[in-house]
Amino acid sequence: MTNERPVADILAEVQAKVEDACRRTGRNPDEVEILGVTKTHGPDVIREAWDAGLTKFGENKVQEAAAKIPECVPGAEWHLIGHLQKNKVRPALELFSTIHSVDSVELLQRIERIADECGARPEVLLEVNVSGESSKSGVRPDAAPAVLEVALSCRALTLTGLMTIAPFAPDPEFARPVFARLRELRDHWQETFGIGLPRLSMGMSHDYLQAVEEGATWLRLGTVLFGARPRWQPQRIQENWEP
Ligand SMILES: *Cc1c(COP(=O)(O)O)cnc(C)c1O
Repeated sequence: MTNERPVADILAEVQAKVEDACRRTGRNPDEVEILGVTKTHGPDVIREAWDAGLTKFGENKVQEAAAKIPECVPGAEWHLIGHLQKNKVRPALELFSTIHSVDSVELLQRIERIADECGARPEVLLEVNVSGESSKSGVRPDAAPAVLEVALSCRALTLTGLMTIAPFAPDPEFARPVFARLRELRDHWQETFGIGLPRLSMGMSHDYLQAVEEGATWLRLGTVLFGARPRWQPQRIQENWEP
């Protein structure tokens, strides 16, 4: 089920809440940007979100994005927010300008090599598993410096910040220490490596206000904007579908 209400109305409400959260914490609202997470939604939803003013969209699967993006508004900026398998780096670089989910030296090096080969200049974020949950992807904080070290020598890709997914808890306040920790790690690594890591990709529908208060610059919002996720099947997969 998607929304009954126009995305533009919902987006205006969400933006007002984000601005309040910025005001409470003395942040500049211009630093916080919403990515529309459109996984499982079709091009119609993306068109509506685009018309409402969103220009950046997040998808979590390369295959789904490959079928969807050509059918969507030209000019939109696509971000990969889900785990990237090493054998999907090449198509991912053709589809996405930004990859939020770099979680190993091997993946970083592979993105660098293939980006160099095909002339891509991707922006990447290091996904950090702050909470240490074994089910979550992302590097553990103690393994992150090794990845940052390698990123320093990359020339095709640019590492611009960090991403995390907070564990789900009914009370979104439980996510706050995770977000605060990601910001502290960012501050620390900026200093020890002498680099800028301006982007913090954190906060989803359930916990985005806590994320804003703790310094998020990119909010990844799906359900709150577009309603519960349907099961969108791209034409190409439907055509090949066999019972
Ligand atoms: C699906 C997804 C989101 C959006 O989740 P909502 O709760 O629907 O806002 C954000 N980040 C990642 C990595 C996701 O996979």
